[in-house]
Amino acid sequence: MAEQKTPTKIEKLTAVKGMNDVLPPDSAEVEWLEAKVRALMARYAYRNIRTPIVERTPLFIRGLGEVTDIVEKEMYCFEDRLNGDPLTLRPESTAGVVRAAIEHNMLYDGGKRLYYMGPMFRHERPQKGRYRQFDQIGAEALGFCGADVDAELILMACALWKEMGLDDVRLELNSLGQPLERLEHRKALIEHFEAHSDLLDEDARRRLHSNPLRILDSKNPNMQPLVMAAPKLMDFLGDTSLAHFRTLTTILEANGVAYTVNPRLVRGMDYYNLTVFEFTTDRLGSQGTVCAGGRYDYLFEQLGGKPSPAVGWALGIDRVLELARSAGLKDVAPGLDAYAVVTDASALPVVLSTLQTLRARGVSVQMHASGTDSMGSMKSQFKKADSSGARFALVFGSDEMAAGQVTVKPLRNAAASQQTWSLKHISALAAALQSVA
Ligand code: ATP
Ligand code: MG
Repeated sequence: MAEQKTPTKIEKLTAVKGMNDVLPPDSAEVEWLEAKVRALMARYAYRNIRTPIVERTPLFIRGLGEVTDIVEKEMYCFEDRLNGDPLTLRPESTAGVVRAAIEHNMLYDGGKRLYYMGPMFRHERPQKGRYRQFDQIGAEALGFCGADVDAELILMACALWKEMGLDDVRLELNSLGQPLERLEHRKALIEHFEAHSDLLDEDARRRLHSNPLRILDSKNPNMQPLVMAAPKLMDFLGDTSLAHFRTLTTILEANGVAYTVNPRLVRGMDYYNLTVFEFTTDRLGSQGTVCAGGRYDYLFEQLGGKPSPAVGWALGIDRVLELARSAGLKDVAPGLDAYAVVTDASALPVVLSTLQTLRARGVSVQMHASGTDSMGSMKSQFKKADSSGARFALVFGSDEMAAGQVTVKPLRNAAASQQTWSLKHISALAAALQSVA
């Protein structure tokens, strides 16, 4: 006789902290934004690039800079179990895009305008607007040195805000100049911070000599007076850098784009030079940066490629959608045209082939699914049809089936009357189901 086992309780598995499921209907908002972005990118002639989620760890250490928040404390690093390769879940995509551009010699015949969408991974403290897996959309213009392309990217983001109905996104700009200009500024910065070393927090003390510019990016409120009083990089820029900045601001002004120059804006990665910018909002509390970017003319060289100028931005999907919601976004899920009510299981072959034809002609239709022993009562089916949000019920009853017909019953318009259609006129039916507002 088999031994009686006491059933062991199976522990419920949950998602990793800070890595969220996106369920319907919320997922429709993400799809809505992605569709808007695809159309936008097509209009600006940016083409999609898809790079791996996993990259070799040195790519990020060399690309982003060793003394940055991301590399110091936010990356998910692991060893390939089979060969020990150091790998990392991408914390951002610019480094991967540049790696791919170098690897495939993408710039051999000129600049490339690219965009991507997808998940990024950073080990941060999870909170509203800050997650460990989060989606970004990014645009990168590779191989272009002019401020006209900086402007194009910024105008493209502005067009997206406008299309989404977001009117309180502010643009902050700065110029980080060129490495030699930064060197002079760096000396002045170290002097300034050393003179007030008692006021530096631990991060700042550690970065004082390795990466003092990063101190300007400090989010510690106690550090703000010191940061505010620090020497401004803008004052160390030469004519060429200033001219680049002026070309950009002139184009933005001609396009009616408001901006403020924020001399403390340095961004979180080391690869930036000249133009840097952020789009921010007051509506999301402390996670107010929705989109950020800048120029990174030295990243190609840093990653072993031929020197090529480049500029780009990335936006956080979660924050942009949160902002859209606070601005009144709702009901972006595409509506359903029809719900198929079926009284008799013997009709299913005809029903499914009819629905297949309607769908091939563009109709969205949800099929009532049978239970284990029946299709369910008409009443319960109509209840489901109603809650599906469909505009019409397609009734495949026994009378209809016998006559080769379907009854079309409007569900949202009490004034409209039901009609019976011959299944021979399926193209006309498909058009009618989609045309009625
Ligand atoms: P923050 O200053 O808020 O930490 P960041 O400078 O690290 O942002 P970037 O690396 O420039 O941000 O990423 C671009 C955008 O991606 C941000 O403006 C934000 O909208 C979004 N983002 C960054 N980190 C997260 C995160 N952990 N969760 C959700 N969105 C994020
Ligand atoms: Mg960050």
